[in-house]
Formats: sequence, structure tokens, C-alpha cells
Amino acid sequence: MRFCGLSFCAILFSMDHKTFEKLIPDFLRDRLDNRTEREFLDHYDHCRSCREELSIQFLVYAGLPKLETGETFHLQNELSGRIELARETNLRRRRLGSAAVVLEILTLTAVGTCLILWMAYR
Ligand SMILES: [Zn+2]
Repeated sequence: MRFCGLSFCAILFSMDHKTFEKLIPDFLRDRLDNRTEREFLDHYDHCRSCREELSIQFLVYAGLPKLETGETFHLQNELSGRIELARETNLRRRRLGSAAVVLEILTLTAVGTCLILWMAYR
């Protein structure tokens, strides 16, 4: 059962339930590109049924191996930590991308200025 109607979700979210579910293994292995991960997290924030699906798959992916070794595993705490880590990493990557663009613009401006000065004084 889905949390919301498909057409409503299609308008509200850029990612649909099927895509979300398909991407869960890649999310858990930290293999999503930054943009996809951001869309994944946005959908996670707004869709209860996909949050439940992620909890189930996270339990199988991370919980069962710990339970087999006798370690304690608190599903909600571990999953919340994983989501927060993904948000922080995603934000850091976006900031680095923005910084790279600014550096590129500054470099091009410096090179352009040097070329203008070189042409003016030769
Ligand atoms: Zn969903």
C-alpha cells in the first residue's frame, strides 16, 4: 500500500516509489551519485511507505549480520545515523562542487586579465 496517489507524487516528487526501491541497495552501499542521492533523500523525507521499505532492507543489509555475530542492533538509531551521514556527505559534496566552480571562474578571470595585460604592454 502506498502513502500517496501516484499522480500526486509524480508532481510533488521527482523520484517515484519504484525508482526509490530500486536504488535502496546502491544507497546502502553508498554508490549513488550526489544528485540521485539528494533526490533519494528528498523522497525518503516525504514518503512513509518508502521509509518503511528502506527500514526493512536496512535491517536485512546491516542488521542481520550484526545479529548473527551477537552484536546489538537498534534499527531506528542505526538507520537515522546512516541517513544523517548521507545528508552531511551530500551537503559537503555540493559545497565542494560550488567551491570548484568559484575557483574555476577565478582562474579563468586571472588568465583573462593576464592575457589582456600581456596584449596591452607588448
Ligand atoms: Zn515512495
